[in-house]
Amino acid sequence: MHGLQSSIFADRTWLRAFAHVLMGLFVIRLYQEPIGALWVWLWLGALITLHVNGARFDRSVAGLARPSMANAVFRRQMLTPVLSGLFWAISVLAFTPFGPVEYHVSLVLALCLMVGASAIFLTATPLGLVLFALITGIASAVSFIVQGWWFAAVVVALFHVVCVLGVIQAARSFIAARITEDTVAEKEQVVSLLLREFEENEADWLWEVDTSRRLRSVSPRFAFALGSGQEEVEGRPLLELIAGDSWESGKFASSLHDLAERLKHCENFSNLLVNVTIRGERRWWELSGTPMRDERGRFVGFRGVGSDVTEARNSSEKIAYLARYDTLTSLPNRLQLTEALGDALVFAEQWRTRCALLMVDLDRFKQVNDSLGHLVGDKLLAQVSARLLSMMSKDELCGRLGGDEFAIVIRDVRDFETVRAIARKLIDALTEPYQVDQHTLYVGASVGSAIGPRDGKTVEELMRNADLALYRAKDIGGGTHCEFEQSLHANAEERRTLELSLREALNREEMVLHYQPVVDARSENIVSFEALVRWNSKDHGFVSPVKFIPLAEETRLIVPIGKWVLREACRQARSWPEHVKVNVNVSPEQLLEPDFYEDALAALAETGLRPERLEVEVTESIFLRDASVARKALEQLMSLGCSVALDDFGTGYSSLGYIRKLQFSTIKVDRTFVQGAAQNSSESLAIINAVVAMAKSLNMSTTAEGVETAEEAELIRRMGCDKIQGYYFGRPMEHEDALKLFDGRELRSA
Ligand code: C2E
Ligand code: MG
Ligand code: MG
Repeated sequence: MHGLQSSIFADRTWLRAFAHVLMGLFVIRLYQEPIGALWVWLWLGALITLHVNGARFDRSVAGLARPSMANAVFRRQMLTPVLSGLFWAISVLAFTPFGPVEYHVSLVLALCLMVGASAIFLTATPLGLVLFALITGIASAVSFIVQGWWFAAVVVALFHVVCVLGVIQAARSFIAARITEDTVAEKEQVVSLLLREFEENEADWLWEVDTSRRLRSVSPRFAFALGSGQEEVEGRPLLELIAGDSWESGKFASSLHDLAERLKHCENFSNLLVNVTIRGERRWWELSGTPMRDERGRFVGFRGVGSDVTEARNSSEKIAYLARYDTLTSLPNRLQLTEALGDALVFAEQWRTRCALLMVDLDRFKQVNDSLGHLVGDKLLAQVSARLLSMMSKDELCGRLGGDEFAIVIRDVRDFETVRAIARKLIDALTEPYQVDQHTLYVGASVGSAIGPRDGKTVEELMRNADLALYRAKDIGGGTHCEFEQSLHANAEERRTLELSLREALNREEMVLHYQPVVDARSENIVSFEALVRWNSKDHGFVSPVKFIPLAEETRLIVPIGKWVLREACRQARSWPEHVKVNVNVSPEQLLEPDFYEDALAALAETGLRPERLEVEVTESIFLRDASVARKALEQLMSLGCSVALDDFGTGYSSLGYIRKLQFSTIKVDRTFVQGAAQNSSESLAIINAVVAMAKSLNMSTTAEGVETAEEAELIRRMGCDKIQGYYFGRPMEHEDALKLFDGRELRSA
């Protein structure tokens, strides 16, 4: 505060010096004659020196940082008024006895004038002024007392006391004023800073309305938010601009109504979410506002800030929806299902009832998706969901877990038969054909169920167990319902250990190839051998390929296994007669590997087998995945001279069309049709006839698989198949046994 003051009186310090010198000259005028020039000029010289120095010093410290006013500086500033007071005291006490009474009174009056003036104009620090007044006051009073003028002494003393009190009072209000001034300035800075920051924030704007709620001082950004120019909206009622059609009807949306009420009642509001209509478009604004009042407290309007929160609000609504619903089918999603299951478990625990979880998986959905595209697949899923939804009672919640997997939570299950009945009903309903665009689609459904809390006390456990039951239902061919039972855990465990052993099978040399002959239908000469992999596991004994090949495909272990089979088959085929081909089965997994072609090329190069002797067998399922990649790999292979056979024909999803997709050398008719034809099934006969006819027209040969008897062989021959494979002509056999089928001349040295 001293610092604050000193910067103020630094401006007046020269004025003070000037006043003192002027008064000093007045003293000289009075007492030069009675006392003598020397003494009075000496006195004045000292007074001038004091004030000039004091003024200089005051100016020099005026620029100092205000709050850090050191004590030394303060004391030095006090020196000038104190010494100057003493000089004046000397003049009153020492000079007056030499002059007339009139001079004495004039001098005291002049001093009173100086004290009064400095009290009014605050020409020094308050303490300095007080000391100055005390010193000169005492000196004046004493000089009057010496003369015996008691009354005058008291009056002078009182005058000085009043001046001192006045200085203290003035100093106090001066400080208070400066403090408020300072805080106001500081606040202004903060406000302008905030405003600037606020204006830089794209989304926000300031708004202001008058007492009749018409817009005032519209900023460009607010005008933009209103979808208009600044001039267009200035002076228009705020509500008219944001209410859209409801402005005419007067029926505001509840949030708008709320805003109108608050404006009407001059209420403060913050972050009020308002549904506005800007040029016909619905948007969300967040508004805050404060009533403005003038100096006399009269309401003059509203001022506030606002921002458009439409995007944020839409996305938060969407996020909330996405978190609980599946977008494709609009069914509850996994999260909601698990919550419902958790609730059902708690309910069952509490009321000693049972709940159930049914897991539903579509059969053959993948084929539809892969062959007809995702768009058709998605539409199919939507229809499946609609069917499921139509079957639910209020006690049942149906949702989608993902892909073609759905789940149903049944809250209260009276007996197990209900669950079975529901599962049956579901399977029947979902198996009915679907009409998507121009396609009629047939998919089935498999269901696995688990009962809580019997089959699981927690959501995770119940889900895992229902999943195991579903896995079992799929495993036995689909289209059925399986209930969870403890033994399923054992199956799953077995599968796990089987997988572990399979990983090691190649390293442990547990794999071996067997060969099944394929003969010419007419001459019955061997034209090729199909290589069939066998796994003789040290841990599990002999494992059928029907069991481990799907497992290998699932775990992608088929890639290294298939690589080994290809190489081994080519190597062993080298020891057969030159005209005998080797057939090697290739899984889609393996075919879709980017380096499949290079592998096959390397196998041929290393073993020296002529490419013409290698026939690769693929199934229709390769077309269900990435058909173009598969076709490219096969075409590359064919360009080398290898041939490609279409295996297990007729068992896939849709049939004859695939034959046209690639220049196959052979179509292998699946065993089921051969067996069917033998039992005189007209459908099987028709299919074999159609395939044979079509293959002939496309310049492909046909092989009948699974011919077990002479009669079947005869039938097949009559139907026009070119080649026959089956137990009747030979089971899959070890390589040495295969070699024995040729006489010595035919064989090259192995
Ligand atoms: P596939 O390619 O259709 O092979 C023919 C299957 O039919 C063989 O079963 C064979 O033993 C069996 N079979 C042949 N003639 C008859 C018959 O007259 N009656 C009966 N009931 N069955 C007959 P296998 O060896 O159990 O192989 C099953 C499947 O495993 C194969 O079907 C093939 O898809 C797959 N597979 C076998 N080896 C390999 C391989 O090295 N790689 C790949 N990717 N798959 C293989
Ligand atoms: Mg085969
Ligand atoms: Mg086959």
